[in-house]
Amino acid sequence: MAASVQSVAKVLLRLTPSILQPLRIYQRLRPRASFSPVFPPSHTFCQAAALQEEGAAQAAQAAEALSRYREKPWAYLESEEFMEKYGSDPVWTGYRRNHKGGIPPQKTRKTCIRGDKICGNPCPICRDPNIIVHHQNVKLLEQFISPYTGMLFDPTKTGVCMKQQKKLTEAIDASRNHGFLSFQIPHVDFTKENYSNSHDAVGLTPPPPSLTSGESWYKWYDQITPDESEVAKVTTKYKAYLK
Ligand SMILES: [Zn+2]
Repeated sequence: MAASVQSVAKVLLRLTPSILQPLRIYQRLRPRASFSPVFPPSHTFCQAAALQEEGAAQAAQAAEALSRYREKPWAYLESEEFMEKYGSDPVWTGYRRNHKGGIPPQKTRKTCIRGDKICGNPCPICRDPNIIVHHQNVKLLEQFISPYTGMLFDPTKTGVCMKQQKKLTEAIDASRNHGFLSFQIPHVDFTKENYSNSHDAVGLTPPPPSLTSGESWYKWYDQITPDESEVAKVTTKYKAYLK
């Protein structure tokens, strides 16, 4: 059986020397490389190269954008670019997080960018590299503060990830400390009575009537005449404590 296979191979070799000759030459040129006559189609390389180029272009664009607004993050909020993209609405309007099932998660995600990996559907701040949370970026911070309570919106409302939410809280605190943002203090109406000393509880205490009239404090105090022997007993008992 083996002999017959060999003979068949020999016949094939004789019949197709023109095909096998270039292969042998290739093997001789590159003896160590494992030879595989099946080549991957060339267009896959082209696609990969194109994708790489596209990614590099995007990265370059992002880097350029970052470098443009890194010094002045607030300039982006006033630029035409921003107005075209968001108009006069806050940056988080219309953002909806993708989630499984009908009930939205009770917390936003921890972070949208891990290393150089960006998740699908990143949060309103992470999706735009030009938006930089900074304590001088007052227009941006104002979009995340409720006009009624003066408090930072809940992340489930704005969709901002926990990492950016932490940055926002820190930036707002810093901004208030620097005087860029106003404090919201609850208004309390006060009555004059609470602060006047004419009120009975806070006014000057009048002297006791007994002191003014010259009488004793208790009416029976003057009428008592204690027994002499009893007084002597008490004084000897509490001699150490009496002076
Ligand atoms: Zn995020």
